[in-house]
Amino acid sequence: MGTDCLFCRIVAGEIPATVVRETATTLAFRDIDPKAPTHVLVIPKEHYADVATLAQGDPGLAGELLATAAVVAEEEGLTVDGFRLMFNTGPYGGQEVFHVHAHLLGGAPLGPMLC
Ligand code: C5P
Repeated sequence: MGTDCLFCRIVAGEIPATVVRETATTLAFRDIDPKAPTHVLVIPKEHYADVATLAQGDPGLAGELLATAAVVAEEEGLTVDGFRLMFNTGPYGGQEVFHVHAHLLGGAPLGPMLC
């Protein structure tokens, strides 16, 4: 994508982030404004605006993103009590950064969702 995408700039090392896992195609880093005791964002290194675009454009990469999230959940000790993995998508979905990212949240009871 380029210089105007915040998460592309994190991938490029131009903006600092606390990286917890990196693969050839994905990056996982701690959210700077955590909403739970553990809050990690998992992104593809390649730019896709949202999860729908990613899933339709490169389903294999979408799977790699989920696999990275699962490994991080395990490494962060979230698999015993559970965790939440979610994609805010589009304005009504509350998405603010338009480079697809999974929110991995856990470490405490998170309460009910809208659905
Ligand atoms: O799903 P949404 O687009 O709203 O989430 C963006 C997330 O990116 C926020 O949780 C915000 O705290 C996080 N963020 C970050 N590092 C930045 C900028 C935003 O972790 N440099």
